[in-house]
Amino acid sequence: MRIGRVEAWWVRIPIEKSRQHRSDFGRIATFDAAILRIETADGIVGWGEGKNAAGSAGSYGALVHMLNHEIGPQLIGRDPRDIAVIWEMLYNGVRHESAALTGHSMPQLARRGLTTAAISAVDIALWDIFGKLLGEPVWRLLGGRKRDRLPAYASGGWASAETIGAQLRSYIDEGGFKAVKMRVGAMDGAPNISAARVQAAREALGPDIEIMVDAHGTYTVAEAKRFAHLVADCDLAWFEEPVIADDKPGMAELRASTSIPIATGESEATRFAFRDLAVLKAADIFQPDPAFCGGISEAVRIATLASAFNLRFAPHLWAGAPCFHAGLHVCAAAASSFVIEYSLGANPMIHDLIEETIDLKEGMIAIPDRPGLGFTISESFLEAHIVKP
Ligand SMILES: [Mg+2]
Repeated sequence: MRIGRVEAWWVRIPIEKSRQHRSDFGRIATFDAAILRIETADGIVGWGEGKNAAGSAGSYGALVHMLNHEIGPQLIGRDPRDIAVIWEMLYNGVRHESAALTGHSMPQLARRGLTTAAISAVDIALWDIFGKLLGEPVWRLLGGRKRDRLPAYASGGWASAETIGAQLRSYIDEGGFKAVKMRVGAMDGAPNISAARVQAAREALGPDIEIMVDAHGTYTVAEAKRFAHLVADCDLAWFEEPVIADDKPGMAELRASTSIPIATGESEATRFAFRDLAVLKAADIFQPDPAFCGGISEAVRIATLASAFNLRFAPHLWAGAPCFHAGLHVCAAAASSFVIEYSLGANPMIHDLIEETIDLKEGMIAIPDRPGLGFTISESFLEAHIVKP
């Protein structure tokens, strides 16, 4: 069993004007990703995804170049089942033999960002191959599926105080969700404007729908405290990325000052970063993105870390189909998972890139039974949306 071919593309899918939204990331007119295809010498194909931009639109030229010209050649001829060994090889670079023999990591200078995004894409594709080879869904290889459906939350919520209730209510009517997430922070200009939107949402939805808020890391610690104080009576399920990922002590200070659970992690990569969040007591909920944190292997380790610190795990799944399915399989097997992010903004990278339909009923998403990650890429659709260098 050998890897024969590795190919990555920058895929860019336009979003029709009526379905575009605006946030602190600007108006989102496309959904972009690095999509990776790994094929074994005997024809088993696995799909992966790497991410290096927020808000779904962004430039993927460098990541795709890295996958095709630096990472790909190192994979040719390797056994695709050596998933953890390949992960460490890519992370530790030229010193991977020393790292393997001495039992501790020796990563290179560029150990985050594009590097972990590229490792993520490879790792997701290798798990897909391993599952297809054995004829088993990936969740079975990770230890089983705790439920055949997991609760999902509707992720969206950009409307003003006047219309946010109707916008969130439309998600609930559409998908039967019991939990919804709305955006706050810099896009509103000041904490009191965000707070008024959250209060309007709580008033419109009543006490029994969970409401989460996401500031995309745009508050200072002081602003985040003001906001948390203003919405203290709104019974929020979590306050996501209140401050930038580079201010973990600030996040810990905020967490100590409020009863609202703090969620974070979509901008973090590897178990090492999440260890720091845990040790600093900076978060209640870990949200690694499988296409950025280091793939399925690293997401599993981060979920275990959450459990060990009596925290919870709710991965960032505003993503394309390979990353979204990776998250589904990890959550199915993880002790610390409890809810799946389901984007209610336009997401052609999940829905149009694959032949299957995401099975969502009454706010619950089915964990696929099919071998591997359980989706089929529409290769003609992919080809039509490749960004040519
Ligand atoms: Mg977020």
